[in-house]
Amino acid sequence: CGIVGYVGKRDSQDILIDGLKKLEYRGYDSAGIAVHTANGLEVKKAKGRLAVLESQLSGDPLRGTIGIGHTRWATHGKPSDVNSHPHTDNSQKFSVVHNGIIENYIALKEELIAQGVQFVSETDTEVISHLIASLYEGDIVKAVQKAVKRMSGAFALGVLTEYEPDKLVAVRLASPLIIGVGQDENFIGSDIPAILEHTRNVYILNDGEMAALTQDGVELMTIEGNFISREMFHVDWDI
Ligand code: GLU
Repeated sequence: CGIVGYVGKRDSQDILIDGLKKLEYRGYDSAGIAVHTANGLEVKKAKGRLAVLESQLSGDPLRGTIGIGHTRWATHGKPSDVNSHPHTDNSQKFSVVHNGIIENYIALKEELIAQGVQFVSETDTEVISHLIASLYEGDIVKAVQKAVKRMSGAFALGVLTEYEPDKLVAVRLASPLIIGVGQDENFIGSDIPAILEHTRNVYILNDGEMAALTQDGVELMTIEGNFISREMFHVDWDI
């Protein structure tokens, strides 16, 4: 159960995998990444150790400078390739990684199925990608805010959409998440070690807060949409 994310000028795949390795201590049963490549938002995920995912990527890498990654500790749905994160919507235009539990996922799932959505996994998480897709009206930050209002439980999220290929959205509600601020690149991670190789400048998100990251900057706001200004935290220790 770990989240990483990258937006910048460098190729994201290895940064994501290395970040996930630093979060292995949290425990996991499967892993995956989504990267915005020349073909759009592409996902690779697999049950098992990170080495399983790495061997798939070594033959067929995902090339792109924005991406999200996840190690899963299954709570809803057995460990399997299809239940691994990232999860996508039916149009494959939205991609979500999630740590935590969506307590009202059954009600949301029934509502989305009634709208014609097709579910492919057994996870609680999959409702998030479909919900964001159904609420999207051209602004991913607003769509995530609306989706989060409908969800109860504990979560940290990383969200990408193919429609806004320069933007990474992160949310924290009762699951840890930090933002790493670099030079022409920014990061998200469940914990500081995931990003420490790249930057020592960090924003700690509090519960009910979210962030919109591009390679040029980070906007912090509450999930209600009020902007927050916060001092950056400088990490002066090593792992
Ligand atoms: N509840 C989600 C799942 O079972 C996320 C688990 C996690 O935090 O890794 O897929």
